[in-house]
Amino acid sequence: GIPTVRPKPLAVRRHSRQIMVGSVPVGGDAPVSVQSMTTTVTADVNATLQQIAELTASGCQIVRVAVPSQDDADALPIIAKKSQIPVIADIHFQPKYVFAAIDAGCAAVRVNPGNIKKFDDKVGEIARAAAAAGTPIRIGVNAGSLDKRLLEKYGKATPEALVESALWECSLFEEHGFRDIKISVKHNDPVVMINAYRQLAAQCDYPLHLGVTEAGPAFQGTIKSAVAFGALLAEGIGDTIRVSLSAPPVEEVKVGAQILESLGLRERGLEIVSCPSCGRAQVDVYTLAEQVQAGLEGMKVPLRVAVMGCVVNGPGEAREADLGVASGNGKGQIFVKGEVIKTVPESQIVETLIEEALRLAEEMGVE
Ligand code: SF4
Repeated sequence: GIPTVRPKPLAVRRHSRQIMVGSVPVGGDAPVSVQSMTTTVTADVNATLQQIAELTASGCQIVRVAVPSQDDADALPIIAKKSQIPVIADIHFQPKYVFAAIDAGCAAVRVNPGNIKKFDDKVGEIARAAAAAGTPIRIGVNAGSLDKRLLEKYGKATPEALVESALWECSLFEEHGFRDIKISVKHNDPVVMINAYRQLAAQCDYPLHLGVTEAGPAFQGTIKSAVAFGALLAEGIGDTIRVSLSAPPVEEVKVGAQILESLGLRERGLEIVSCPSCGRAQVDVYTLAEQVQAGLEGMKVPLRVAVMGCVVNGPGEAREADLGVASGNGKGQIFVKGEVIKTVPESQIVETLIEEALRLAEEMGVE
């Protein structure tokens, strides 16, 4: 059968201090937000702003841009100013770019403690500049670039090593009275990653940015991220998420949004409840579900639309759906809230569902 019950609320959210990444509150009782990262050369301002606009349109709430060179740092002021969503500058190696990003008005700066050489002497200066500008710092520890000292101590990037690296770097900022911090401890193995975030969550009150790094191509990366984020978010851990895929960043945002919707952490948009099909099916359910999805994509109103392969169980199985179809004998029974309202020829199923969806949306006062 088709699950028809909405999930119960998840565990109590971990208590974290709230920071502001530009206009987006992160941590505390703020909704979990979706981040992504541009793949353009940051110095190519037009291409980068174009991609940020696409990410924004697909629901991305915070965007990160890489700053590997002076040209990229020089592009930050205009990108930070013109982006519709807060921009985080991602800095490796060079403290001078941290200052450039703060001066540029970036909403936050991400630093990687394992990667910034001689960073320690500069922490005080960075803390003062960031505090003066009100710019939070993300301490982003990555298994692939863990501090040599900790690699030697632990032998490899264990959860303990990742957490120690992050908290050590935080302590350097704390010595200068700076606590406007968000942390990530990414690893490509969801099991290590989950354990690292659990330990980190227990040891500090900073908001946490979740990520499975190098998660892989879309299919594998989606599953790894969904499983890891799902486990943590269901425990109340995690304040921002970034799905890393070897795929266009808009895909990352769609997956991230879907993960939050699945856990009831973000209001659902369109949800297609389609049956897996079985020997009773009298229609190609896969194609029909895809056509319905394509026809209704972009509707703002949260709708649950059921697509059922036969009339035997269809309406009954999808009683909780707002709208649906059960097919059989070359026809489709269209139902609203479990009641059959009309029967149409198979060729008219998709258009009838779209009509009914628009009518329901109008009733609910949404476009
Ligand atoms: Fe259920 Fe009918 Fe779909 Fe089979 S074809 S899975 S019985 S709705």
